[in-house]
Amino acid sequence: MKIDIRKEIAAVTDEMIALRRDIHAHPELGFHEYRTGQLVADRLSELGLAVRRCAETGVIGVLTGGKPGKTVMLRCELDALPVTEENDLPFCSQNPGVMHACGHDANAAVQVAAAKVLAAHKEELPGTVVFLFQPNEEDCGAPPMIEDGALTDPRPDAIFATHVWSQLPMGTVGVVPGAMCASSYYFHITIHGKDTSAYAPYKGVNPLVAARNVMDAVDTMLVTEYSMLDEPTLINFCTIHAGDFVINIPDTLTMGGSIRCLHENEKAVHARFKELVEQVCKAYRCTCEVDIEMGNSMLENDPALYAIVKKQAAAMFGENSIIEDGIREFGGDDLAEFFREGIPGVYYLMGMGSEEKKTNAMHHSKEFLVDEDVMALQAEMQVRCVLNYLGEII
Ligand SMILES: [Zn+2]
Ligand SMILES: [Zn+2]
Repeated sequence: MKIDIRKEIAAVTDEMIALRRDIHAHPELGFHEYRTGQLVADRLSELGLAVRRCAETGVIGVLTGGKPGKTVMLRCELDALPVTEENDLPFCSQNPGVMHACGHDANAAVQVAAAKVLAAHKEELPGTVVFLFQPNEEDCGAPPMIEDGALTDPRPDAIFATHVWSQLPMGTVGVVPGAMCASSYYFHITIHGKDTSAYAPYKGVNPLVAARNVMDAVDTMLVTEYSMLDEPTLINFCTIHAGDFVINIPDTLTMGGSIRCLHENEKAVHARFKELVEQVCKAYRCTCEVDIEMGNSMLENDPALYAIVKKQAAAMFGENSIIEDGIREFGGDDLAEFFREGIPGVYYLMGMGSEEKKTNAMHHSKEFLVDEDVMALQAEMQVRCVLNYLGEII
């Protein structure tokens, strides 16, 4: 295939940035990405891709090359966050209280640009490229897409996903082989005691006493039963509600939080957590219910696809551009659910953070700002990864 990737991306960069600004000005929350999805679907249709909607607001575009070959999927997100934007931009959010504060506006526009460049080479393309635009990444939108057939017709052989990243500098790529993002599960505990007046606590059972000891016991369990090196596990209590009157001991207490594991033994951690909470509640004469709800699976990068990302990043930015330290994190990404379906994949972060340009604000913050210069680089990386995987470039 004769292709000058950089030049062809440069030719579509203005419209890529215009699309990103349009999406940025009209952010939509998870599973409400109707306008954003339609915008993307229309662009893909114009490029001649076979386009279908998936899980209502998601979009899948299929580019079938003129030559036989493997099927590779690119995945990005469509959703914004319930954050009020505090940036001073001509294309600021026009939807009060909703903001593209994670950079999904950029990721989506980049993926449309990659589709345009690859679609121009449809006849010479040895294989199929699937462009998946996912709703509700922030709160697990992958399972409904999978249920709605996102990974069939055609089934991809590999998945590449990329995200702009404010916590790395421009010209660097954050990626690791193996586990990169933790599994996250959410727990909800209800503790039942017996209400009484605070002047006679012995006539009731105070669920707050059980809760205090549950929190201590869980913290101790983490330190004494798990190796932070081999089984990194994080349990946080994030909500607690009980009582509404300072002179009464309440009947019930509810508390909740998250369990995050950067290792395979998450089921054993969940079982031990549940057992411990039940035993501590019993020790303090309470009963309890413990529900553990799934957030995301652990995300593990495929070693061979990781090697492709690393090679292409080195070709673009040099060997020292690949950052592995500090990339593994306890945050989750539901991209993991696609990988869990038996499809190898890789997730990598495109650095764009700069103190000077103020593009190093944390993701999800009201000051989050994308450095649009990263977008052409990100599109080039994705096109390179596809062509490398399909055997067109080395
Ligand atoms: Zn996010
Ligand atoms: Zn994100």
